[in-house]
Amino acid sequence: MFEKILIANRGEIALRVVRACQEMGIRSVAVHSTADSDAMHVRMADESVCIGPPPSSESYLSPLAIISACEITGAEAIHPGYGFLSENASFVQMVEDHGLTFIGPRAEHIRIMGDKITAKETMRALGVPCVPGSDGGVPDVETAKTIAREIGYPVIIKATAGGGGRGMKTARSEGDLEIAFRTARSEAKVAFGNDEVYIEKYLEKPRHIEIQIFGDGKGQAVHLGERDCSLQRRHQKVLEEAPGPVIDAETRARIGAICADAVAKIGYSGAGTVEFLYENGEFFFIEMNTRLQVEHPVTEAIFGVDLVREQIRVASGMPLSFGQDDLVINGHAIEVRINAERLPNFAPCPGLVKMFHAPGGLGVRMDSALYSGYKIPPYYDSLIGKLIVHGRDREEALARLRRSLGELIVDGVDTTVPLFYDLIGEPDIQAGNYDIHWLERWLAQAYA
Ligand code: ADP
Repeated sequence: MFEKILIANRGEIALRVVRACQEMGIRSVAVHSTADSDAMHVRMADESVCIGPPPSSESYLSPLAIISACEITGAEAIHPGYGFLSENASFVQMVEDHGLTFIGPRAEHIRIMGDKITAKETMRALGVPCVPGSDGGVPDVETAKTIAREIGYPVIIKATAGGGGRGMKTARSEGDLEIAFRTARSEAKVAFGNDEVYIEKYLEKPRHIEIQIFGDGKGQAVHLGERDCSLQRRHQKVLEEAPGPVIDAETRARIGAICADAVAKIGYSGAGTVEFLYENGEFFFIEMNTRLQVEHPVTEAIFGVDLVREQIRVASGMPLSFGQDDLVINGHAIEVRINAERLPNFAPCPGLVKMFHAPGGLGVRMDSALYSGYKIPPYYDSLIGKLIVHGRDREEALARLRRSLGELIVDGVDTTVPLFYDLIGEPDIQAGNYDIHWLERWLAQAYA
């Protein structure tokens, strides 16, 4: 087992990893930009290293700064969290070239899954059902039109290198296609430095269902059921729950086994998420994330496992600490993402947190790096906390969510908390009756 781990991230996820290290008796090293000298992850880790100025490109995204920090502190392994360098295959290669361990999958698997076209090809070949669409990149509008006629409108044009919901455009008819194609391309070029795009059938009313998998890197893998992340704004998740309100045990076992078998066959190592759109009882693969997800705590809650601990164990060469039969669902969990944003437009709202009080009590988990007197810097993501509630069933989880939102105090900045109060009161949310477009439709009315 490692003696010292460096955490190449900030905010709540850096704290999450520090906590796992502490429970495992592993020393932790925080890295931080000059804007984060007073951050909670720096205070909680055993050691810290300043790796650069505020812009992420010169600090949290700088492979050289991070590897140097490992050398200075003698850390043997790097946990990347999510975002930043977590899905950067060349960083992983560099880490390995320096004799360090990356806590995550092998560079080759990150590379395959990071390109959405090779990801789809690979998954299809491994028996995973995919969204109908182009088999590879689409070079020009004419080819796009031919494919769209075959699969039928509406279609969605997506960036091969896409992420974070950017570089996606829908076309309802051939008349829309040219502009959608060109916009998707130019957005992809600006956002990802790669203008390759592909086409998929646009599904009208799907749910976003993702399967958590875990591989030991030696050909064994298990699944930990699904999360329903259909409540999205601009293709970004807002609330996640597990198990999915519309997935039964048989469906879970079937799609879970398909995913676990697929990743076992390629010798995948560590945590991963296979994302699907789910419509009329059918699953359609859209992408795989080769890292820990923001919403992993809902899975931890219902299975009673620590996924970060498991990532660290597997990266150090130990076997999985659970088999498929050990993984039994207990109750229901819901996570809400609390962002420092001002409603109704979700404008980022950094600034001084005059007072912070986290909710507590049975079945409540608050993952946040806030504290009273903390100044949220303007340079990074607006996620300031995740509130996760766990109950014996969905109804109890919703009641607990309402109760714990009432206890939460974030004074000084605007947050998305009022949104969740409003959502809990909605009959569709209470009934679990929503698809990936529900929230946008609701926002257009409720916050008009
Ligand atoms: P990203 O990597 O940017 O998150 P994804 O491929 O995971 O992109 O898609 C993000 C979201 O975009 C999905 O959860 C879904 O809401 C929407 N989406 C993606 N593909 C389709 C599709 N074929 N039909 C309908 N919606 C889609």
